[in-house]
Amino acid sequence: MKARTVCFVYGFLAFSLGVGNLAGAQGPNVEPADIIVIHGRVYTENPKQPWAQAVAIRSAKIAAVGEDAAIEGVRGVGTKVIDAGGRLVLPGFVDCHIHFLEGSLSLGRVNLEGAKDIPDIQKRLRDYAAEHPGDDWILGQGWNYAMFGAETLPHKKYLDELFPNRPALLVGYDGHTAWANSKALALAGITHETPNPANGIIVRDSQTGEATGALKESAQELVWKLVPLPTRAEKLLALRAGMKWANEHGITRVHSAGGDFEILDLFDEMRHRGDLNLRMYIAYFLNPPQLRPKDLDSIEAAHEKFHDDWIDAGAVKFMVDGVVESHTAAMLEPYSDDPSVKGKPFWEPANYNAAVAELDKRGLQLFTHAIGDYGVRMALDAYENAEEQNHKHDRRPRIEHIETISAADISRFGKLGVIASMQPLHSYPDSDTLDVWARNAGPDRASRAWAWKSIANRGGRLAFGSDWPVVTLSPWEGIQTAVTRQTAEGTPADGFDPEQRLTVEQAIEAYTLGAAFAGRREKTEGSLEPGKLADLIIISQNIFDIDPHKIGATKVSTTILGGRLVYQADKH
Ligand SMILES: [Zn+2]
Repeated sequence: MKARTVCFVYGFLAFSLGVGNLAGAQGPNVEPADIIVIHGRVYTENPKQPWAQAVAIRSAKIAAVGEDAAIEGVRGVGTKVIDAGGRLVLPGFVDCHIHFLEGSLSLGRVNLEGAKDIPDIQKRLRDYAAEHPGDDWILGQGWNYAMFGAETLPHKKYLDELFPNRPALLVGYDGHTAWANSKALALAGITHETPNPANGIIVRDSQTGEATGALKESAQELVWKLVPLPTRAEKLLALRAGMKWANEHGITRVHSAGGDFEILDLFDEMRHRGDLNLRMYIAYFLNPPQLRPKDLDSIEAAHEKFHDDWIDAGAVKFMVDGVVESHTAAMLEPYSDDPSVKGKPFWEPANYNAAVAELDKRGLQLFTHAIGDYGVRMALDAYENAEEQNHKHDRRPRIEHIETISAADISRFGKLGVIASMQPLHSYPDSDTLDVWARNAGPDRASRAWAWKSIANRGGRLAFGSDWPVVTLSPWEGIQTAVTRQTAEGTPADGFDPEQRLTVEQAIEAYTLGAAFAGRREKTEGSLEPGKLADLIIISQNIFDIDPHKIGATKVSTTILGGRLVYQADKH
């Protein structure tokens, strides 16, 4: 508490004197900075001082922001000087929706994202196998249905050509279908006779009845359960690589939406070793059908132990529905391509409302995955109910994804103070979105697809992320999509629901100050101002000035986290 008061006083002084005075105030009271970043175009996210040239850092915090001359005034003998060379300096970026361990493990596997066709996929697999010889599992992810042409589903024969004796399992980009080769199917004992598991399909040849290698939904488990789990050492190695990858893309904090609560002790171990290079806000994933006492015990014990600037376990994630592509997102009206289904919510509304109210009462922050318009309404209703029951406090509940929304619910985000946590790249208007997603949702719901601008216009706060490893964690590609609503090739020509386009300023805010607000940390993070944590980045191009279709190609030159240089492009 004391340290915080001191920082506040220092921040106040720096502000009230004006940084210009700092230069002339070199006396026994002005300690030299640890680092100064000079010659930058500093976009601060601080409305009182939106632009500056330089930043001074001391004791892991921002000491001053101002003109070069003023900041030079706090340069001492031991001060490290980083010359930004006229480049853009921004607050560190936050990824508000990530599955960090899963993403980190995926870095060591084959990445098929962006492959053009089957020969392209096979080339990547051959290259990977050449670098990773042996006979253990070939694992990977990132293929999409369009890569297989008219068949729209993968077939084991393409893998068998390359790996007759080595098991291979490659998960589709959406996680809903896996692709296995004959060796993997044989190890799993999948034959003509194997029945489909509950909620899963073993895709079979229509002539022979033989499994084709495509495994839908829970059928993936039949093979996954044979893949050896990563050891503790392998997880640590992967996490280190994942953090390096995040820093390289300008990310200094993540909000984990599942899969990381179970390894809180690993993050803690990294912190003690001094190599925790990412601030972690981690949600407990609460499974239906209801909140149990043992869930509450785990949540509260973790929150009690982890609630500081580096590791915070103060959130709980619900998942009320699935995805539009497989008709599992819960809709108010039936799907357009199949009027027999609406998507059944994973939670009974009464149980969900009770769990939300109970956790809210305890001061925990709530995240709800809701993709269909009925799922979104369920979450808004539950949050409204919690407010009525528990009265006013700083709750900031969140809805994750919000792929479509009823027009009647748009203004409720602003009214109820619900944060819209969205992932711009999920709206990337390629054939998967325009042909499959939009066909299933139909034109009316597709006219309110990823409606971030409408939500923001009605007072809702935005927070952006990736959902890595579902898509790349690069926020630059996310900004490009949020601003253009087009593919990298500029399609569709008019943009996908172009009225939802954001300005570059709005998109940056959703990854910085808006993201900090969404993690209840805007007092210490999210903008470059004295007293806040020294998390900042320098990037390769001025994204305010260039063709927005080129924003995705932005490279990070420097990432500073808590006053430590954690990434420098020319050092790699
Ligand atoms: Zn997710």
